[in-house]
Amino acid sequence: MKKDDPDCPVRKQVVPSMKEKENKFGMPNYLIWKENRATDEVRPDSIARQYIDRIAFTVTDVCANYCRHCFRKEVVVDRDLKLRMDVEEGLQWITEHEEIRDVLITGGDPFILSDDKIDYLIRKLREIPHIQMIRFGTRTPIVLPHRITPGLKKVLSGYHKVPIWINTQCNHANEITEHTAKAVYDLLSCGVNVGNQAVLLKGINDDTESFKALHQKLLTVRIRPYYVFYCEPAPGIDHFRTTVEKGAELIRDAIRGHTTGLAQPMYVIATNIGKIPLMPDYYIVDKNEKEYTLKNYQGKTTLWPNMPE
Ligand code: SF4
Repeated sequence: MKKDDPDCPVRKQVVPSMKEKENKFGMPNYLIWKENRATDEVRPDSIARQYIDRIAFTVTDVCANYCRHCFRKEVVVDRDLKLRMDVEEGLQWITEHEEIRDVLITGGDPFILSDDKIDYLIRKLREIPHIQMIRFGTRTPIVLPHRITPGLKKVLSGYHKVPIWINTQCNHANEITEHTAKAVYDLLSCGVNVGNQAVLLKGINDDTESFKALHQKLLTVRIRPYYVFYCEPAPGIDHFRTTVEKGAELIRDAIRGHTTGLAQPMYVIATNIGKIPLMPDYYIVDKNEKEYTLKNYQGKTTLWPNMPE
């Protein structure tokens, strides 16, 4: 980050602000609501569930850096909400739930754990017959790329029928360095794909130039843009939030047609009932029995036949 620039987009993500004291729209106990922790299904604290076939498995509340905009702020930054991160209890629950095929290991940041602990988690999950894929959510390729050490590569590498996928979080092109490029290359050489889940942040990436530069630069270091999340209504982060429509407008004005199709993330709101996509909907301008009128990113229109089912 730039030390002397209060508007530095990297600095604003990590240096606390008095604005965090203002909380007009944030929901108290946000994670309880978001992760359905008050429902009838009894689950260990480490298991968050919004879907039938996949869960988030929280294994630590420690991170490589603490993001001021974090939706899990109550647990990892403010620490008002205490969760039991009991790995054995979580593994037991996953073993007993045969409908779960996909486990997202999250935190905090799971790559803060030792190589041995990460190895143990992967081995144990691969022993469960119904697990078909393992995912890690980690910011380390961006904020601590040196964590991708030869030891960790050894843990992650090798062919296995249960693959490992990684999603990281990068919110501005300035966060991407040559160290990031090397870390991502090392992960890919282990057979691990790396995607990005950005958060739409006011004054950081909510203008067309920054938004486009971020998604283009991600591809230059082999990270595939995956999601852009609306900044969630966790307490104390009102100052980072844009309007809901903003993300779809940015996809329309900075990405779709303006740059390669590989740089297209899906814009979503992550709610207690799962992710809701909110992509721009300007394409179909008109429709009649004979044809559609379609509009492109430049506002040009064309006709397309309307075929009966
Ligand atoms: S790394 Fe992830 S969990 Fe940790 S503070 Fe940042 S957003 Fe939150």
